[in-house]
Amino acid sequence: MAKHTITLNNGVEMPALGLGVFQTPTDATTSAVAEALRVGYRHVDTAAAYGNEREVGEGIRRSGLDRDEVFVETKIWISDYGYDATLHAFDKSAGKLGVDHLDLLILHQPLPTAFERTLDAYRALEELLANGRVRAIGVSNFMPEHLDRLLQETSVVPTVNQIEVHPYFRQTSLQRLHAQHGILTQAWSPIGGITSYRGGEKRSFDDPMLLDIAGRYGKSAAQVMLRWHLQEGRSAIPKSIRPERIAENFDVFDFDLTADELSAINALDTGVRSGPQPAAITLDNYGMAIPEA
Ligand code: NDP
Repeated sequence: MAKHTITLNNGVEMPALGLGVFQTPTDATTSAVAEALRVGYRHVDTAAAYGNEREVGEGIRRSGLDRDEVFVETKIWISDYGYDATLHAFDKSAGKLGVDHLDLLILHQPLPTAFERTLDAYRALEELLANGRVRAIGVSNFMPEHLDRLLQETSVVPTVNQIEVHPYFRQTSLQRLHAQHGILTQAWSPIGGITSYRGGEKRSFDDPMLLDIAGRYGKSAAQVMLRWHLQEGRSAIPKSIRPERIAENFDVFDFDLTADELSAINALDTGVRSGPQPAAITLDNYGMAIPEA
């Protein structure tokens, strides 16, 4: 059986599965988070840019769990990159979440058009780590060239790179690079949500191969995809606002896919990204300001 927790490269234990809240409306966030924590999740992935950190914090408090029982992950948006701006962005996120420390704080995107600023943002994360305000730091959507430069010019190896990974897009060479440096691959859109909500023609949830495998275990395609991530050693952060799906997506610890099934799922990779090209994100087109706490 795959483990429920993963040890990051700095020794911090992280629950492998978390609840994602991208596109979760503010009025649905508190209940989704509280429901997830009720059914056993102990990890929530949000972001300053999602505009729902306040409601995530409220959901955690509503659960009645102690702060140290929940792994809280959030992301710094590009408009807050730069050393001082990123230190202040921590205060904004922690203030909205209502916590004094974060478990994992990551840079949401590389900013190739202002990479020095990206590096300064990461140096601020290093400072927050050194001061105990965050337990682990990392990045998201970094491609090999961004990771190479980050590793050369900063001191702390990121614990995670959160990237698009689902059966139709696996980024295998990037995942290999992560493994070489002890960086955990954390899969966003892990059940291929982006293949449907972006109007894709081929929805992962309807994939005949995934449905065939799912039928063998009395599981759903989503559960098979999450099991695949766990058995391949990745973290995954599926999003849902529906209680039945929140529970379904966590009910993945009682079956094991075979090596042949894992290979069959790997063979579904099309090599085609559904999300934006990381390099296409600039301050000009995506630089909205993040409000104060
Ligand atoms: P997911 O792969 O988690 O899929 C979510 C979509 O699938 C939603 O439309 C949801 O709808 C639906 N869904 C959820 N569970 C099921 C199920 N069991 N069966 C059928 N449909 C289901 O996609 P996301 O893009 O939301 O990614 C997950 C998380 O990753 C985000 O919430 C966010 O935290 C993170 N992320 C990070 C990015 C980054 O740039 N770093 C980019 C994108 C995502 P419903 O809610 O109605 O159930």
